[in-house]
Amino acid sequence: MTKQWVYLARNAKAEYAKVLGHEPELDEMKVLFGGKGAGLAAMTASGVPVPPAFIITTEACVEYMKTGKFPEGMWEQVLESLRDVEKQAGRKLGDPAKPLLVSVRSGARQSMPGMMDTVLNLGLNDETRASLAKMFDNEWFSYDAYRRFITMFSDIVMGYPREHFEKKLAELKKKEGVALDTEISLEGMKDLVAEYKAMYRERFGEDFPTDPYKQLDLAIKAVFDSWNGARAVAYRDSEGIPHEWGTAVNVQMMVFGNMGDTSATGVAFSRDPATGAHDFLYGEFLVNAQGEDVVAGIRTPQQISLPGSRAWAAEHGISEEERAVRYPSLEEAMPQSYQEFLEIVKHLEHYYRDMQDMEFTIERGKLWMLQTRTGKRTAAAEVKVALDLVNEGLITKKEALMRISPMSVDMLLRPTFDPEAKMTQIAKGLNASPGAAVGIAIFDAERAKEAAKAGQTVILVRPETAPDDVPGMLVSKGVLTQKGGATSHAAVVARGKNLPCVAGCEDITVDINRRQFTIGDMVIKEGDTISIDGFNGKVYAGAVPLVQAKYEDQTDLITLLSWADEIREIGVRTNADVPEDALQAVAFGAEGIGLCRTEHMFFDERAREAVVRMILAKTQEARDEALADMLPFQEQDFEGVFEAMDGKPVIMRLIDPPMHEFLPSYHELIEKVATLKVTAPDSEELKDAEDMLEIVAGMWEVNPMMGLRGCRAGIMYQGLTEMQTRAYFQAACRCAKRGVDVHPEVMIPLVSHVNELKLEREKLERVAKEVMEEEGIKVPAIFGTMIEVPRAALTAGEIAKHAQFFSFGTNDLTQMTYGYSRDDAEGKFLLQYVDRGILPQNPFQSLDQVGVGRLVELCVKEGKATNPDLEIGICGEHGGDPDSIDFCYRVGLDYVSCSPFRVPVARLAAAQATIRNGHRK
Ligand code: PEP
Ligand code: MG
Repeated sequence: MTKQWVYLARNAKAEYAKVLGHEPELDEMKVLFGGKGAGLAAMTASGVPVPPAFIITTEACVEYMKTGKFPEGMWEQVLESLRDVEKQAGRKLGDPAKPLLVSVRSGARQSMPGMMDTVLNLGLNDETRASLAKMFDNEWFSYDAYRRFITMFSDIVMGYPREHFEKKLAELKKKEGVALDTEISLEGMKDLVAEYKAMYRERFGEDFPTDPYKQLDLAIKAVFDSWNGARAVAYRDSEGIPHEWGTAVNVQMMVFGNMGDTSATGVAFSRDPATGAHDFLYGEFLVNAQGEDVVAGIRTPQQISLPGSRAWAAEHGISEEERAVRYPSLEEAMPQSYQEFLEIVKHLEHYYRDMQDMEFTIERGKLWMLQTRTGKRTAAAEVKVALDLVNEGLITKKEALMRISPMSVDMLLRPTFDPEAKMTQIAKGLNASPGAAVGIAIFDAERAKEAAKAGQTVILVRPETAPDDVPGMLVSKGVLTQKGGATSHAAVVARGKNLPCVAGCEDITVDINRRQFTIGDMVIKEGDTISIDGFNGKVYAGAVPLVQAKYEDQTDLITLLSWADEIREIGVRTNADVPEDALQAVAFGAEGIGLCRTEHMFFDERAREAVVRMILAKTQEARDEALADMLPFQEQDFEGVFEAMDGKPVIMRLIDPPMHEFLPSYHELIEKVATLKVTAPDSEELKDAEDMLEIVAGMWEVNPMMGLRGCRAGIMYQGLTEMQTRAYFQAACRCAKRGVDVHPEVMIPLVSHVNELKLEREKLERVAKEVMEEEGIKVPAIFGTMIEVPRAALTAGEIAKHAQFFSFGTNDLTQMTYGYSRDDAEGKFLLQYVDRGILPQNPFQSLDQVGVGRLVELCVKEGKATNPDLEIGICGEHGGDPDSIDFCYRVGLDYVSCSPFRVPVARLAAAQATIRNGHRK
């Protein structure tokens, strides 16, 4: 028996269940039927009114791609399924009396908006056109359908670009002196169809195909071929969608929203895709129109619900009287269909258990659902919808957590424009995708890519966007378009990408050729800085200063993260060096400090002078004096940090960077000395500069990151470790005496041999004990080491005998495992490596689980084997990266530590790791 390549939407689910041996999940159906096909099958199966259809599977496409031919038996199955659709429709393809028209649409497993092709009104020829006119008693409509079909077929199937046809349409409207397609005369439409046919004949040397079966055969092939079209391939590359999936093809009975005033077509969201609000149906429709008219933005669409319509009118300064007459909502204009629609939406949300983005058509009073899919939404809507669905009992807390992308959490903490700042508003458009963005205006996608590559921040400005613009959008900080609405391409893609977008900004006139836009007399040229606010649709000249988003106002996010905390089994700490950062991190939910880089305290001007003296000291006495002067600065900051972290652990890391970083740079000194030799040869300043140069030259190392730094500095600079330990424990003891609950932990950096650890730890414990005795109070302290050098990881068993905790410094560990300089690699070759696919990702951003991860895993295993109580965390940048957090959970780490603003992201990612991988044993 030949394979089943074609399924009827009305029984696809049941038939596929027979193949699988179980009831298919929606995701399983998507694999075979594509997203759109799965939607049709699911909707039909659950009794929603869907025009009869059949689905050619993605497997058939894959076969076709291999051989260039339909797989054996497919065409016969198409014909058989067509018979079924014809029976349901009561019309037949090509039938001169009662012709059936169909749409032929692509539909991949994952939505690829606008990337592939669709042919509508297939089945028309001169004969069927005439009977269509009779059947619907509307001659004008039949010619309109015919000219649309010829345009689409020529463009998509034959590669004759639609612009040629659209030019003729525009000329006709001009000739007739009308603005809208619907105002064209019947005679005009007839002439247009004749002209289109002549154009076709001239181009291809044969008549437009009249045989509907030939039309169908070619259209299916064209849709299969569109999977490998340049646009689709580029989109898949950017989205990481596999090229071998293939697309399904959906062949469906056409229904018409352009059959007069009882017909309409539109799109709707079950909840507000910008905010997630669930007050009414969001979306737009047009009376007497076809789907493409809504997207094309020629006529002003009306709103679906009455409250939505009123809100829209208020925003556009339209009076209630005018609104009710000219732009009534669907609720008012077609109340019966609206009520039916409401019921269907409720049903679909329950079935899909998520917010839906739907397309519908009303044909002479009868409502048909054409498509439903999970709606794309902003980060704020993502959180609100997930939360609301839990409260409505539709999904579990775990499901809600899995539906939030950690990127969205990051997005919600992004800055907005400072309301106090002086701003020069120059235009206002639609708030299509929230977020504030500042950048230079660039007018095409290619140039946007170049500018972004050159390190500039870009706002892409276009009359409207098309799929070709997507790569340019992705490198931009924001998008501004002159045309298009909330469901326009720019708006949909930007929302999906969390990219601030102002769309439909009709105040501006974009001139792509001159690379500028104008507002009256004002001209903004390419390279001029603008600011756009996707929250309210406002556009400003120049750079508007940004302010941080307020976490405490985001109650939905806070609730969601509290659920994450209930589930996660891995701790989240923060990397904070000063009290303000520590406080911020606690507000974000940090459970401790995983890394306090103490050297940052010395970058403070006040302390710097003492540090320099310490480095330059020629005698131990002078060094001790300098160290004594450094101590109060450290102690003061430590006290602030302990207070901020009351009750939570604080890991203080001993000083780490190469000491020359505290001194003037070698090259600057050479220049200074050379200049002074000419300008002030006998000055004290020259002598000082020469002394300093001598010292800096003496400290110079070829590879400072592999030189005298970390514990090596602590060992070589006598008294340094002791001073830091003293400052730290004095702070701890004094805070404890004031009633602060302190948990000091001390961490030794860059250990490679156990003897380094032993030496340093002995000093630490001695000084800590001394201080506690002096202060007359005991505080619970623990001592551990960073694992940053491969040798430390490889000898973890031995090192663990002398450490109470490990913390992976994966910045250095990555640097040393790869042998890539963490300071230079990205600029010199690493980003290119990623671009060219030599490396799958930047290992400084996302932990290289295969290589560096192997060291981590081995280290955890051997460390815990000799010291079962060993506490293990990570404090490299990877501690805030969701994929790396998942890895850390899997290999058994106790906590991750990341910068304060990543803490909420890490809390979510940690919960997702537990849900994804199951509980720990
Ligand atoms: C590390 O190396 O991962 C680390 C956290 O230390 P630093 O970045 O300060 O070298
Ligand atoms: Mg390090």
